[in-house]
Amino acid sequence: MSLPTSATYVIIGAGIHGLSTAWHLAQETGSGAGIVVVDKGDVGAGASGIACGVIRNNYFQPAMRELMAHSVSVWESDPEAFSYHPVGYMQISHEAMRDDVGSIYEQQQAIGYESVFVEGAGESQLYMEGIFHDWRAQGITSVLHEKKGGYANNKKSLAGLRAKCEDLGVTIVGGIEVTEFATDNSSVTAVVTSQGSIACDHVVVAVGPWVQKFWAMLDLPVVTPVLGADGQLHDTNTWTYWALQEGVLGVDPGYLVDNDGNMPPVIHIDTDAPLHDDDGELVTEGPWGIYYKPDFSFGGVQGGYMPYIVDKPALEVAVDPYGPKSPDFVVGGDFYRTWTAALSHCQKRFEGKSGLIKHEPSGGIGSFTPDSFPVFDTFAENAYFICDSNHGYKMIGVGALVAKELTGSPQPLLEPFRYSRYAEGKLHPVSNSPYPWS
Ligand SMILES: Cc1cc2nc3c(=O)[nH]c(=O)nc-3n(C[C@H](O)[C@H](O)[C@H](O)COP(=O)(O)OP(=O)(O)OC[C@H]3O[C@@H](n4cnc5c(N)ncnc54)[C@H](O)[C@@H]3O)c2cc1C
Repeated sequence: MSLPTSATYVIIGAGIHGLSTAWHLAQETGSGAGIVVVDKGDVGAGASGIACGVIRNNYFQPAMRELMAHSVSVWESDPEAFSYHPVGYMQISHEAMRDDVGSIYEQQQAIGYESVFVEGAGESQLYMEGIFHDWRAQGITSVLHEKKGGYANNKKSLAGLRAKCEDLGVTIVGGIEVTEFATDNSSVTAVVTSQGSIACDHVVVAVGPWVQKFWAMLDLPVVTPVLGADGQLHDTNTWTYWALQEGVLGVDPGYLVDNDGNMPPVIHIDTDAPLHDDDGELVTEGPWGIYYKPDFSFGGVQGGYMPYIVDKPALEVAVDPYGPKSPDFVVGGDFYRTWTAALSHCQKRFEGKSGLIKHEPSGGIGSFTPDSFPVFDTFAENAYFICDSNHGYKMIGVGALVAKELTGSPQPLLEPFRYSRYAEGKLHPVSNSPYPWS
C-alpha cells in the first residue's frame, strides 16, 4: 500500500495501543479515512507481538485498577476477535504482601470487579488444592482470585484489531520507519519517514519500548524532577529499561488443567520461601515470584520470572530493543533453572521436568517511566504519547480513551497519568510487590 502524503491523524506503531487507538478513532469520527498507522516492521513487530498476554487487575494503585477494569470490558466485548480467554487470574502471596493484596480486594469489590480473597496459610493451601490437587508452594498466607481477566493470544488479538481497523477504512502501512518530526516550533506539522513525509494535524506516538527515541525527537527532558514526600525535587532518569524474562516449558498445555479438567486461571505467586531446584541445590533465599499458564499458541506452559534492569547502555537498547541481539540478554541459564525450579516448588507435576524448557528466543524489553506507571499526555501541542511503562498489552481500552481525548473530550481515567504529576508529587502509591508493575 502506498504512503499517503497527508492525514488528520498519523499513528506511529502498530502494537496494541496504536491499533486500538486507530480503531476507536475511526469509531469516534465515523470513518477511518484520514487515519494512518505506520510501523517500521508490521503489525505486532514490537512488545505486543511477544507479550505473555496476561490480563489482570491486581493493582495496588486505584487509578490503575479503574483503568484496567475499563480495559477488561473491552476484551470482553469481542472475545473471539481478540482471542481472549477469560479464565481468571490468581495472585498468591506471602505475608509481607497480605495487607496490600487485601486492600486490592476491598477496592475491587468497591468497583464491582469480581474476586475472592482467602487469608491464612491453611486456608490458602486448601483453596489452592481445590484447584490443583498437587499444589505445594510454601510461605503462602493469602490468595486473591480474580474471576475476570485471564489472557489473550498476542498475535491473534492484534490480527483481530487490525481487521476492525481496516473494516472502518483505516490505512495501515508496514515497512515505514519514522525518522523525525517536522515542526513549526510549537507543534508537529509532519511525520518524516523512510518513504517520505506525511503532513498531519495530530500525531500519536505508540512505539512501546522505542519511546526514548521519539522523546528525543521533541527534545523532551531525559531527566525528570520528581517531587518526593520530603518536599524536595529529585532528578530521576525519565526512561529505564527492564528485561522481562519469559519462557515455555515444552509439555502439552493440557498438562496444566485444573482438578475438573478445565483450563485454570493464570497463576502468579510471590513467596519468601527459599527456592531449591529438583536436586536440592539452593537457587535463591527469596523472596521470588513467577507467573504461568497453559497456552496453546506458545505450545506449552508459558510464563515468566522477575525482570531485571538492563545494564547495557540504554541508548543501544533504545535503537532497537527487539533487534537480533535482544533475546541473548533477556533470558539465559539462570532464568531457565529458576523458573523451572519455581514451577516444581508450586506443583508436584513439574518435578523432574526442567529439561523440557524450550531454549528459544523469549522475553523482551520494557521501557519504564520515573515511577514505573504510564504517561498518557500531549506534548508539543499535538503529539499524543502513549507510554504504557510496560503495563500495556492488557490495556486494550486505553486506545478508546485516547481517541476520545483526541476528539476533544478529556478522560478522567487518564488524568492521573499526566507527565505533570512528577513535578507536582501526585504519585501513585507503591506496593510491596517485587515487580515494578504492581
Ligand atoms: C516479554 C514481555 C511480556 C509481556 N507480557 C505482558 C502481559 O502478559 N500482559 C501485559 O499486559 N503486558 C505485557 N507486556 C507489556 C506489553 O507487551 C507492552 O506494554 C505493550 O505491548 C506495549 O504496546 P505498544 O503498542 O505501546 O508497543 P509495541 O507493541 O512495542 O509496538 C510499537 C511498534 O512501534 C513500531 N516502531 C518503533 N519505532 C518505530 C519507528 N521509528 N517508526 C515506525 N514504527 C516504529 C515497532 O515496530 C512496533 O511494532 C509484556 C512485555 C514483554 C516485553
